[in-house]
Amino acid sequence: MKKIIIIKYGELSTKKDNKNFFISKLKNNIEVTLENINHNTYYDFGRMFIETDDFDEVIKHLENVFGIQELLVGYTSNNLEIDDIKNKVLDLVSSKSFNTFKVVTKRSNKNYPINSMEISKVVGGHLLKNISDIKVDVHNPELTVNIEIRNEEVLFYFEGIKGLGGYPVGTLGKGLLMLSGGIDSPVAGYLTIKRGVKLEAIYFESPPHTSDAAKDKVLKLARVLAKYNTEVKVHVINFTEIQETILKNIPHEYLITIMRRMMYRISAIIANENKCNILVNGESIGQVASQTLTSMRAINEVVKMPVIRPVACFDKLEIIDISKKIGTYDISTLPFEDCCTVFVPKHPVINPSPALCEEYEALIPYKELIYKAIKGHTTIKVGIKEENKFSDLL
Ligand code: ATP
Ligand code: MG
Repeated sequence: MKKIIIIKYGELSTKKDNKNFFISKLKNNIEVTLENINHNTYYDFGRMFIETDDFDEVIKHLENVFGIQELLVGYTSNNLEIDDIKNKVLDLVSSKSFNTFKVVTKRSNKNYPINSMEISKVVGGHLLKNISDIKVDVHNPELTVNIEIRNEEVLFYFEGIKGLGGYPVGTLGKGLLMLSGGIDSPVAGYLTIKRGVKLEAIYFESPPHTSDAAKDKVLKLARVLAKYNTEVKVHVINFTEIQETILKNIPHEYLITIMRRMMYRISAIIANENKCNILVNGESIGQVASQTLTSMRAINEVVKMPVIRPVACFDKLEIIDISKKIGTYDISTLPFEDCCTVFVPKHPVINPSPALCEEYEALIPYKELIYKAIKGHTTIKVGIKEENKFSDLL
């Protein structure tokens, strides 16, 4: 009998035609995640298996991988004889303390001469005969013994650990996350990665108004997201000239609206250049003046590609809960200004007019400024492979 990790696939098992694509993507993502741990992975359409000596470490890493419904530490045996199965189960449960139990059997090997119900009955009877003071409880057992009869092996396992669910990263293509140092955008990123979208990120900095520490904070957040995304490429845009030009030439109540229209325009271009199909951001309806419905509309209209706002309908406290769960909260709440907070006007417009936005934008050479900002942008890759290079960031 060999101890092994068994992976039950998440929602992908319903994707009939694409199953192979989804599963092989999951395998690739797992290989990247487990790159530094000794292991061996193999799979079929029903399950994935990992052999390793370092179970705790592998499980810890797999808990960050989307596309896994359940993780189980189980046992595999090549002896399909029912008597051997009975004894192996007795062996495995002998170290456990329980009063009630049930046996659940699955049989993907349809040539096996005994059906699932019968196997459960025989094994259950064997346990009752050999262990005193236990009884069967099919509704609420303290111990569930799972047996799976496959073509060339039998699997045994007990309770598992819930996986993250979702789709394997990359199965749904790519998106560009507008990543600020705040609480909302990393959560928005996490929720998008969960649906199988591989993210790149874009960050607007305004030196000297924003510090290197503010940028490091964003890179740290990207690094947390990289645990789920396998890696994150962060495109850093110098936004200073655009912001200063807006500040000098445009009525102050429209500063944020126009600034965000510029961010959207730049993001859409960077997204296109990097084959990202959607923009993702942390806007939440009503949270600030630039997130009223009229503001969102006036800002959104400068781009054609879909803008996904995963936290649009969440309360701040709900967003905070997720950020704590995924490990971004403590980083997001570090005290560094981002480029929006530095330029916040006293009375931002709550219902901006798109026509006025265009009128004001005509006052500045924004196309040239955007072109210049994009031309000068830098890209930083964070992730598992950069562990050593960026270890100073965390
Ligand atoms: P967050 O907590 O995510 O920073 P926020 O409540 O501060 O959000 P805003 O500053 O209005 O809200 O920003 C809304 C969204 O716009 C952010 O969630 C993020 O997606 C994007 N964004 C804001 N500032 C930047 C920036 N400097 N670089 C990249 N994206 C940004
Ligand atoms: Mg912000």
